[in-house]
Amino acid sequence: MSLNVLVIGAGMGGLSAALAFQQQGHHVTVMERVEEMRPVGAAISLWSNGVKVMHKLGLGTAIERLSGDMQRMRYLSHDGHLLSDFSLAPLYEDVKQRACPIARAALQQTLFEAVGAEHIKLGQHCVDYTSDARGVTAIFADGREVEADLLVVADGTHSRLRNKIVGRAVERQYVGYVNWNVRVPASNALAPLDSWDQYVGEGKRVSLMPMGTGGNSEGQEEFYCFFDVPLPADTPNDPARYTEELREHFAGWARPVQALIEHVDPARMARVEIHDIAPLETLTSNRVALLGDAAHGMAPDLGQGGCQAMEDAWVLAQAVQQALEKTPVVEEALRQALETYDVARVERVGEIVARARTRAEMIHGHTPALTQAWYAELGQEDGQGVREGIRKTILGGPLG
Ligand code: FAD
Repeated sequence: MSLNVLVIGAGMGGLSAALAFQQQGHHVTVMERVEEMRPVGAAISLWSNGVKVMHKLGLGTAIERLSGDMQRMRYLSHDGHLLSDFSLAPLYEDVKQRACPIARAALQQTLFEAVGAEHIKLGQHCVDYTSDARGVTAIFADGREVEADLLVVADGTHSRLRNKIVGRAVERQYVGYVNWNVRVPASNALAPLDSWDQYVGEGKRVSLMPMGTGGNSEGQEEFYCFFDVPLPADTPNDPARYTEELREHFAGWARPVQALIEHVDPARMARVEIHDIAPLETLTSNRVALLGDAAHGMAPDLGQGGCQAMEDAWVLAQAVQQALEKTPVVEEALRQALETYDVARVERVGEIVARARTRAEMIHGHTPALTQAWYAELGQEDGQGVREGIRKTILGGPLG
């Protein structure tokens, strides 16, 4: 049986959901607020659980080709002293899939093309919805109404529709630090080309991660770089001062960090005050599913926000398919599917949101003694502890 599925938001969550439903033969329309898709941010590290979903959706090979070859992890102190250096190969062998750090633009375009431009309508600002036993109606800012069997709400961390689905006002919470991120041409002078390097100290962090070419026309390998600094909320955001600010925050840090700051083009930088959303008690209401950052905005310190959006998409489409196989009555099948989705996802994403917050606070000096203890641990780390944490997150996903 073919359903009409309406997806709000054409980010990586909404597009993954659209693709998952299309592959099961449903008729899908994606409604996106912006007139032109321009992903904010340089890149993301798609961990193996996200890549596994991409493989199921037929995009794994393309993603692997466009992404970086991240084989090692190194931690260094702020002055460049090596704390630990270990291989990620045992992790990849255990979980049977490597990680794929990738340019956001490349990931977005790959998903967009797979769904098909003809199924994605830009400039559509959804402001509300109503639902009853017969269906769901999405309401847009221009007054237009669009009916569907199922509404998938993937409208990001500032979700307009979330409160209605959850049935209460949900607030985003500041995690306590600011992240500047950017892409730079990869070079051995900055970091080994296959290693994720992280400099840590003073509750701050500088990260360089190999992210491949992202399909850029020059075939130039790049690093995905970010700078984290604990700061009060609402500090001024002035792109003209980014380089100067980073020089101040990282004065006296290791030479590659200084070189990186001088190297980056501030015009290509994104600056984000990191927020999360306390775990939600439900991700569904009648004929509506909440998905991606709208459902579980989290600190990026586990690199899991996008991966969880992809898991959501896969689980939701599977739940609908299995329910439709059991009962031909759409209303009843959707009721069962949304219940299955809720049970499968509320606990999984809630646990990851909480763990990401704890890790963010540890990395960024929320409790200075804990951050100092972590620095000391990194000096003893042989990789096993780090790999085990990542392995558990990956294997806890729907595709194992
Ligand atoms: P979004 O990408 O925000 O997409 C939502 C879409 O909905 C947007 O296109 C928006 O325009 C549209 N929209 C909004 N409102 C409406 C409306 N009313 N009507 C119609 N359309 C609407 N994740 C990882 O997996 N790995 C990482 O390494 C990683 N690193 C990160 C680093 C940083 C600094 C940050 C901030 C996040 C990171 N994440 C990472 C998280 C990841 O970026 C998000 O989880 C992911 O982008 C969420 O995708 P989404 O589709 O749910 O939301």
